[in-house]
Amino acid sequence: MQLIRDILATRAAAGRPAISFEFFPPKTEEGDRNLMEKTIPALMRMRPDYCSVTYGAGGSTRDKTLMIVDRIHREHHLTALAHLTCVGHTQEQVAELLQKIEALGCRNILALRGDPPNGAEFQAVPGGFEYAAELVKFIRSRSPFSVAVAGFPEGHTACKAGREVDWQHLKQKVDAGADFILTQLFFDNADFFRFRDHLGKLGVRVPIVPGIISILSTSQIKRFTQLCGARIPGPLAAKLETLEGNDSAAAEFGIEYATRQCEELRRAGVPGFHFYTLNKSTASVRVLQNLGLASNMQVG
Ligand SMILES: Cc1cc2nc3c(=O)[nH]c(=O)nc-3n(C[C@H](O)[C@H](O)[C@H](O)COP(=O)(O)OP(=O)(O)OC[C@H]3O[C@@H](n4cnc5c(N)ncnc54)[C@H](O)[C@@H]3O)c2cc1C
Repeated sequence: MQLIRDILATRAAAGRPAISFEFFPPKTEEGDRNLMEKTIPALMRMRPDYCSVTYGAGGSTRDKTLMIVDRIHREHHLTALAHLTCVGHTQEQVAELLQKIEALGCRNILALRGDPPNGAEFQAVPGGFEYAAELVKFIRSRSPFSVAVAGFPEGHTACKAGREVDWQHLKQKVDAGADFILTQLFFDNADFFRFRDHLGKLGVRVPIVPGIISILSTSQIKRFTQLCGARIPGPLAAKLETLEGNDSAAAEFGIEYATRQCEELRRAGVPGFHFYTLNKSTASVRVLQNLGLASNMQVG
């Protein structure tokens, strides 16, 4: 499978944003079938450039990340980025995982610190890594992977010293060898532009790909943003309150909002769009159609 840093370079040269979709490993067989037989085939019609598969905080879905990456490669011939975190792993265990990932033909890793389950504070295990930058360096020193890292346009919630200090830490991940940055979802493009400008001033030159979510319902996005720490701006929160309990209207509004967000980001020259799909296809398909980026689905 291709290196995602090469995919991003090819897309940039062609002046077209790279399209990617994020999936999580389902907990049930029905969820597996739904993802592999419905969601991914529907999204493949959009001719995505790559996808990514999250890594659980612990437990059984962790093993499933690689199983799903492998199935996506074999069954859909789509390049997949395997998320990997430092939670609960020693360096030896990470080394073994890297061998496994490479043996599957996967050449792309999103290197994360991760969060422990149940909102506990992160603690490195003895012989493990404290920060994602150490994981990036470790991966880089061993294998020819294309490595991505996470970036936070509003600053990472745990960085009490403020967002600019967090962005300095992000630069350390790039200096450690990251090829590109995938961002946390955000709803105010001004946050992304400030983040991108600041990183530019720090000398960060790698592609910064915005993470986009299309709101499914008021209650869903409240839960989701509480978990990931993203802010819902006041006017958006007020609009969502009016749609509480009316999920189909909220989903329509979410598609419209994500479309407008992407249109502005595209004019500002972003290298791609990374869609948080929540293992569903409809919203991402509709947003891409609205953006005119689904037009190449007719080709070939
Ligand atoms: C695109 C994306 C995908 C994600 N996928 C997953 C997933 O699959 N599984 C999962 O469990 N989580 C995932 N997360 C969540 C992520 O693991 C958490 O947000 C985690 O708390 C931070 O991870 P990180 O890699 O950014 O950590 P780091 O870059 O290590 O940063 C963590 C905190 O430490 C601070 N810090 C970094 N370096 C230093 C230093 N040298 N000194 C002091 N402080 C420092 C940072 O400012 C930040 O506050 C994802 C997030 C994003 C944006």
